Amino acid sequence: MSVDSTLDCCIVGGGPAGLVLALVLARAGRSVMVLEKHADFLRDFRGDTIHPSTMEVMYELGLLDRFLQLPHQKVSELFGQFGDFRIPIADLSHLPVHAPYIALMPQWDFLNFIAGEARRHSGFELHMGAEATDIVEENGQVKAVQVQIEGKRREIRSTLTIAADGRESVLRRRAGLPVQDLGAPIDVLWFRLSRRPGDPQETMGKFMPGRIIVMLNRGNYWQCAFVIPKAGIEAIRAAGLIAFRETIASLLGFSPDRTAEIKSWDDVKLLTVKVDRLESWCKPGLLCIGDAAHAMSPIGGVGINLAVQDAVAAANILAAPLASGAVDLDVLRRVQKRREWPTRVTQRLQLVIQNYVIAPTLQARRFERPPLVARMLTGWPLLRRIPARLLALGVRPEHVSEAIRNASTQMAGVR
Ligand SMILES: Cc1cc2nc3c(=O)[nH]c(=O)nc-3n(C[C@H](O)[C@H](O)[C@H](O)COP(=O)(O)OP(=O)(O)OC[C@H]3O[C@@H](n4cnc5c(N)ncnc54)[C@H](O)[C@@H]3O)c2cc1C
Repeated sequence: MSVDSTLDCCIVGGGPAGLVLALVLARAGRSVMVLEKHADFLRDFRGDTIHPSTMEVMYELGLLDRFLQLPHQKVSELFGQFGDFRIPIADLSHLPVHAPYIALMPQWDFLNFIAGEARRHSGFELHMGAEATDIVEENGQVKAVQVQIEGKRREIRSTLTIAADGRESVLRRRAGLPVQDLGAPIDVLWFRLSRRPGDPQETMGKFMPGRIIVMLNRGNYWQCAFVIPKAGIEAIRAAGLIAFRETIASLLGFSPDRTAEIKSWDDVKLLTVKVDRLESWCKPGLLCIGDAAHAMSPIGGVGINLAVQDAVAAANILAAPLASGAVDLDVLRRVQKRREWPTRVTQRLQLVIQNYVIAPTLQARRFERPPLVARMLTGWPLLRRIPARLLALGVRPEHVSEAIRNASTQMAGVR
């Protein structure tokens, strides 16, 4: 067992929350180690939507131009199809931001980019294939994490440990932080189908009585999210793959040869939807952010962006206390105080959509007409700017502090 005692911050989890926090803290001159249990970032269907709020952060860090050189698709308008009615839902093109659209990009490209930028700073260290198994507490304070790296058990000591290890967070469990389950009546099946000549351009949601599917235009393929009632996967599997393909083909109006691209259940990934939130995001020496603090519903595709916003707020609040080594519980609570309200509002909106639009659609046998709010969006184009703003920027957009922006340009440690 070896011991690192001079580290400012040990971050468990190399997802959007952990890596963005590491990047911003490293730019602020802090020493940061990220522990990621997987050997690479290659995970499919993990949320590929980069919203304007995240791209504003990239701009503030001077990275937006390089970021946009990565292959991506732009989505500036979102549509919903309710039975025979086509409803424009959100128009992002009017937003006063540097990138007024959602960039669809594989999450591993985003994470590789952030890790690559963070590596330019001498204070940053990333260990892949490093699985944290427990926290080490001394006198009621988290002092270290235990981790398996290349088959060896190590203990990483730091001034502050961050749990950014996602919605199944080991650290929050080991720390005994109580979780409030907010309930989710749905699960989601993800799969791909090719895009072919004559297909529509736009990214859209299709609502039919008893069925909902969201299709993201990924260039040469559609990334499809088929929404099912909670735990409905067993019944779908029992009915068989052929029946599943037929359902999808009739819902999308695609020919059977296209849905035959779903060759086995291995091509269909289940997302068990969870919406939860920690009552307290911290204890002495430990702070949870991102999904580890609040698992989000996939509605609106805001999980990555909320995680990034948590990371920016945490970096703004923690950079100076970490420099002086004085990170007490009050400082950690300031991060929760800053981010809890936007989390609550976003989760509340997701629950309203889940319970009043999605669940009734899945139970419906026929449609009279689209929901009232959808009809209002059709009639009043200006109204579409509200969902656009909520989706794009969230309810409390975070900005990299001036202190960190200036510190990063003065930093001697940039490689
Ligand atoms: C199938 C699916 C589809 C989704 N679709 C979207 C979408 O379209 N848009 C969107 O914005 N959001 C989407 N989300 C949600 C989004 O992925 C999350 O909200 C977001 O990734 C949260 O970021 P995070 O960094 O907090 O956690 P995560 O992205 O979950 O990252 C946690 C990281 O910690 C690592 N880790 C876990 N345990 C340990 C450990 N013990 N030791 C070391 N490392 C560990 C994991 O390997 C992972 O890399 C989706 C989620 C899923 C599961």
